[in-house]
Amino acid sequence: MDYLYLFKQILKETKTNSMSLKKIQHDKDKLNQIVTDARRNQELRDQSYRGQALKLYPWICGRCTREFTHTNLTELTVHHKNHNHDDNPSDGSNWELLCLYCHDNEHSRYEETRFGNSQSNRTTTTIATHNPFADLKNLLVSKK
Ligand SMILES: [Zn+2]
Ligand SMILES: [Zn+2]
Repeated sequence: MDYLYLFKQILKETKTNSMSLKKIQHDKDKLNQIVTDARRNQELRDQSYRGQALKLYPWICGRCTREFTHTNLTELTVHHKNHNHDDNPSDGSNWELLCLYCHDNEHSRYEETRFGNSQSNRTTTTIATHNPFADLKNLLVSKK
């Protein structure tokens, strides 16, 4: 057995490993940087179109007409009419100010029309046709 050769091999491997580890760490840092940048850009963009929309429109929810002031302005959100958050024309034609609740509603309605399945339709029909007094009436009739 050539111990010197073996020793050299181990040394070489250790070196390679520590080098690739460093490279992985470097790539990870780079990836983190990219993610951080993207997130910051997204935040900046969100802030800028929200700021623009708040300047353009009165602080009123477009659905329930609730009015907003500086104290509760965080509950007023910017909705994208065509549901494309990247579509931000500076004239505000794609924006609508909605309170958190109406905004939520707007999106669930949109999801329903987009992914509308028979399940949700059936649920709606059941609720619409169900008469809570029907049973009561039967109960009263049978008691007589
Ligand atoms: Zn509202
Ligand atoms: Zn929206």
